[in-house]
Amino acid sequence: MKLLHSEKSRLRAALRKEGSRITKQRELIFGILMTDRNHPTAEEVYHRAKKELSGISLATVYNGLEILVACGLIKQVHFERASTRYCPNLKEHAHFQCEQTGEVFDVPLGRDAFQYLQEILPEGFSANSISLSYIGKSKAESKGLQQNS
Ligand SMILES: [Zn+2]
Repeated sequence: MKLLHSEKSRLRAALRKEGSRITKQRELIFGILMTDRNHPTAEEVYHRAKKELSGISLATVYNGLEILVACGLIKQVHFERASTRYCPNLKEHAHFQCEQTGEVFDVPLGRDAFQYLQEILPEGFSANSISLSYIGKSKAESKGLQQNS
């Protein structure tokens, strides 16, 4: 879960801007998000972090994730009736959640799509951020269905 040199610099600079400092725990949490990129929940980050830092607490993980969100290094992802997930992809994108496996995938949102979503807002409305989520079947699942038929 080693951070690349550039990622570590980005982490340090972002934390400093927020008046926070880099810690072993924050570095590990950011490293987990940058490495796996499968939108883990705080509990999942905690379980992975414990393998490397056995003394880390769930509270420290929650706190670290909160700080990384405040720094703009990661984003929260919400699905109905589900725990918050975390995503390090800062480009405009939508999320697709597979209802069978619960896995979450990034769907790149082209500039045109993003512009369209802004344009359809009523006059006088402006969005600072847009979150778009799909829920359905992922490729792995539909492949399985084909094999059964
Ligand atoms: Zn994402």
